[in-house]
Amino acid sequence: MIRGFLFLLLTFFILTTGTYGFELVLPKEKQSVTTANYAFFVGRAKGFESLKINGENIFIASNGAFAHSVKLKEGENRIVLRTTYGVQIYKIFKSKAIQNEYSIENMEPVKAYVNHDNTPLRSTPVDAGLNRIAHLFGGTHLIIDGSKGNFLRVKLSKDKAAWIAKNDVTITNESFYPADFVNMDTERFKNAMIQTITFSKKLPYTVEDNENEIIFRVYNPELSEDSVYNLNIPKPDKYAYNITLDDGKYTFKVRKLPEDIKDMTIVIDAGHGGSEKGAIGCLGDEEKNINLKIAQYTAQILKDKGFNVVMTRDYDANVTLTDRISIAKENDADLFVSIHLNSIPDIPMNIHKNRGTSVFYFNNNSKRFAEVMENSVTNHAGTHNDEVRTASFAVIRPTEYAGILVEVAYMTNPMDSVLYTNDKFLRKVAKGIVDGVIKYAKE
Ligand SMILES: [Zn+2]
Repeated sequence: MIRGFLFLLLTFFILTTGTYGFELVLPKEKQSVTTANYAFFVGRAKGFESLKINGENIFIASNGAFAHSVKLKEGENRIVLRTTYGVQIYKIFKSKAIQNEYSIENMEPVKAYVNHDNTPLRSTPVDAGLNRIAHLFGGTHLIIDGSKGNFLRVKLSKDKAAWIAKNDVTITNESFYPADFVNMDTERFKNAMIQTITFSKKLPYTVEDNENEIIFRVYNPELSEDSVYNLNIPKPDKYAYNITLDDGKYTFKVRKLPEDIKDMTIVIDAGHGGSEKGAIGCLGDEEKNINLKIAQYTAQILKDKGFNVVMTRDYDANVTLTDRISIAKENDADLFVSIHLNSIPDIPMNIHKNRGTSVFYFNNNSKRFAEVMENSVTNHAGTHNDEVRTASFAVIRPTEYAGILVEVAYMTNPMDSVLYTNDKFLRKVAKGIVDGVIKYAKE
């Protein structure tokens, strides 16, 4: 009897673990071509066994999760995964990365128009996210005097240039004529200040959010190389701002966030959803589902406290980044919290080094919120403090609210995967987020 049972159990075990005793989430193919410097092996070991990758013993977490990175050399890389059950070989061909090294070419100044609203103006000729210095409006007049790769150099003043993508502008052969300055005005309200500056046509601008003030600059390079108009705008402790352009009239509105948290609107944004799964964890878990659970727990606690909460999604649905931002703006969001889990860390040679919680912000008006949130989540959930960072994520780029993006843990970190697959942990994270919101609102 006993022997027969054991035999049954043994066959069952062998059938479910397969021949190799592990399941890989990454890489997806046994043979592939890449230009990357590292290949990642992420997955789950299913027996009580050891796993070696190219002879190196791989750490396996209590739930079977493992992750490892292999440095690739140019040409064919053979990567051998060895377990007690056998050997599997992966072949990854690393080809040379194509170098797009264009040099800057100066050109005779020409006029151009920005094609559409929300066009990034950058400090360098690369699509690098953090180099965005303004978002220009459609129809803005520009002077172009150079190019590099897919970017054009915009002349703003004698010593200030910026870059814009070639696809974002239309070059014309119109002759130059400077805009006329029309007027400037300031209006003060209890919780807001509105500054306007009007020209006879749409001019480029930049915003500098410094420690004590915001400097809004409008450039009129066709008038003279020195023609810059500066608005120095004082700001309260907790603030948000927006800029609109109507013909040549810029309206810059800076407002104080409500003092009472009950007067605030808090947007909770569960990252990804629907066909957009987000990162895949060691055990095959999909980030979108974990984000949603944390978001739902968070929103529920906030609602129970009587706060105004808006969710960008509360079920498994595709919601575009633009829609998430529109939902926030239409609801006059004061605070915006996007919930995500991280994947491959920045330092790929040591895939285990980055674990735990990072909170990201883009604009200075959200920096303090990010710091408070980092402390709160790591304290409540007991995650490793993976620091406050800046990043150019679309949902936290608007300045109309204080917006942060919480990367709760790393999907591809075996130790973190033990945490995020546990519902109690997700509830602790939610409490941490709620506490972070309350602390920041009351500060
Ligand atoms: Zn994500």
